[in-house]
Amino acid sequence: MSDKVMVVTGGSRGIGAATARLAAKRGYGVVVNYLGNVAAAEAVCADIHAHGGEAVAVRGDVGREEDVEHIFRAADRMGPLGALINNAGMIAPASRLDAMEPGRMAEILRVNTLGALLCAAAAVRRMSSRHDGKGGGIVNVTSAAAKLGGAGSYLDYAASKGALDTITVGLALEVAGEGIRVNGVRPGIIDTEFHAQGGEPDRAQRLAASIPMERAGTAEEVAQVILWLLSDEASYVTGTTVSVTGGRALFT
Ligand code: NAP
Repeated sequence: MSDKVMVVTGGSRGIGAATARLAAKRGYGVVVNYLGNVAAAEAVCADIHAHGGEAVAVRGDVGREEDVEHIFRAADRMGPLGALINNAGMIAPASRLDAMEPGRMAEILRVNTLGALLCAAAAVRRMSSRHDGKGGGIVNVTSAAAKLGGAGSYLDYAASKGALDTITVGLALEVAGEGIRVNGVRPGIIDTEFHAQGGEPDRAQRLAASIPMERAGTAEEVAQVILWLLSDEASYVTGTTVSVTGGRALFT
């Protein structure tokens, strides 16, 4: 049993995997959720175990209510939930809106937005003082795309993340008096496998020169901010989103 447990959705790769590893070092028992890549999820857990930490890989689609219950029941078996990282996300190849398949729009909104809502609801039912919980933190992994708009390429994805920004604000206010802080991180261009799903595996390299800091970010740099937002050092921070963009897309 861990005395504080974190659910990381999409914890098998990229930003989620880096967050799971760092959280374990900070003493969390970690539920490493994944969708299909069991080998990657097991590798993250093996790494955590090798460093003396506690982690379990749990398959589940965050956009399906029954899967979300399965993920959080696994967390319950580890100990009291203290944190949720709404990190799982998907994108599709670049397209103008008038050429997009409606099915892909629905899928992106289902996973990125409905998934975050379902997971946040499950976390609040466990962490809120209203439900006899001990409080905790939620961090939503949004995107610079929410501010840029995704014109000509990823409008559906950008919209799904804009909704996530609204969830950060609204839920923070809803549970501020119940011991739960809700914040977001806004990655810019981070060097992960995510861009391959968007149809451009070399996107991070291609755009590096256009970023004010002249490089893509790393998953670990995003994870550090996520863990800071959950820490006591951020004890009076709620309802805000921190950009981790190397200076790109600064609107907040
Ligand atoms: P990634 O390396 O492609 O990893 C995506 C993760 O999400 C994987 O663990 C994947 O599981 C999981 N996943 C996908 N759909 C899922 C579902 N329906 N249910 C549960 N898990 C699911 O991506 P990343 O770059 O780390 O991205 C993480 C988050 O950061 C996403 O929300 C993304 O929108 C956001 N973000 C990324 C960037 C960037 O430049 N990389 C920029 C802005 C925002 P499997 O391993 O099983 O497939």
